[in-house]
Amino acid sequence: MTDKRSDTEKIKSLIASSGNIVLVGHVNPDGDSIGSLMTMGFLLEGMGKKVIRVVPNELPRPLKNAKGKTKIYDFISSESHVRKQIADCDLAICLDFNDILTRLGGFGEVLNSLSCPKILIDHHLQPNEELFEAMISDTSASSTCFLVYKYIKEAYGISVITPKMASALYLGMMTDTGKFSYGNLSSELFRAVGDLVDCGADIAGVELAVFNSQSEERVRLIGYALNSKMVVLHGRKTAYITLSVKELNKYRHKSGDTDGLVNMPMQIEGIDNAALFIETDECIKISLRSRGSAGLDMNSFAREYFTGGGHRNAAGAKSFTSMDEAVARFLKGLKKEFEKQSSVSNPQES
Ligand code: 5GP
Ligand code: MN
Repeated sequence: MTDKRSDTEKIKSLIASSGNIVLVGHVNPDGDSIGSLMTMGFLLEGMGKKVIRVVPNELPRPLKNAKGKTKIYDFISSESHVRKQIADCDLAICLDFNDILTRLGGFGEVLNSLSCPKILIDHHLQPNEELFEAMISDTSASSTCFLVYKYIKEAYGISVITPKMASALYLGMMTDTGKFSYGNLSSELFRAVGDLVDCGADIAGVELAVFNSQSEERVRLIGYALNSKMVVLHGRKTAYITLSVKELNKYRHKSGDTDGLVNMPMQIEGIDNAALFIETDECIKISLRSRGSAGLDMNSFAREYFTGGGHRNAAGAKSFTSMDEAVARFLKGLKKEFEKQSSVSNPQES
């Protein structure tokens, strides 16, 4: 496993020799996944390629707004069309996820069974390298959109970036860094944003689509969750929220309505770790967040106490247990991690 790999030339030549390309984003698509999917699609369409963009399930409302008229198929509602279209693709480009088999829901096996070469552009830890012919993987990058920007700059030059591509790249860079407040905020990232502005990115338009176009139900659900469901454990610098199917239904929950909620408890002074437990029909979906190096390593936490993973400060997992059991496991893990920390800071004399 390497932290950085950049097969730019190989990717350029694979793209040059392909005419029919499927672009794939991850399950529960976020701004980075959609931004990179849109950008690569615009780039390839500009080269005269036939392109289909696919995500495993429905887009949340802000991203439907942000994508505008760009066609993005979700596998659940367009399964037969997607299966037919991708059957004769000669290249697949996977964006913003590290493993076809675990990050694509039901679409994973379908994509994996395609015999065409597959490319990965991604910033998650531990990419499954065996599945890809060529990769751009950099776990220090703050977003996949930043890697897509760097690939385009290196392979074709900034002049090919159209205003639509610039806005889509900005969407991913901005959302994956929490509006440029966390992650790897390098000077190169801010220079990249400057380039995107020069290329015609509609910064205000992206902001409006993503943050000021929520449903009334979503705003009320967030209010309810923070007021009535947030448990704050000051001693453990941690807060968590649980939401049951019944509660979600009461607020006529739609895909994406809880996006961003997991970060909100960390607005409290002294809270460095946060978790959100969402009950679905299949499992308890767990989102984990932490602050910089002060918080826990949530990638390790998700792997050790649940079946999941992600980044140090943002990870996730699924638990096929009751809500109470999932929370109990989380609290047990938290206790263990704090015990480990205190034994490191107060080592026993020997
Ligand atoms: P979120 O909490 O936004 O769903 O996920 C945050 C990050 O955690 C994602 O970018 C992804 O890297 C990771 N992640 C979320 N759910 C899972 C999961 O079930 N398995 C793994 N391996 N990673 C996950
Ligand atoms: Mn990302």
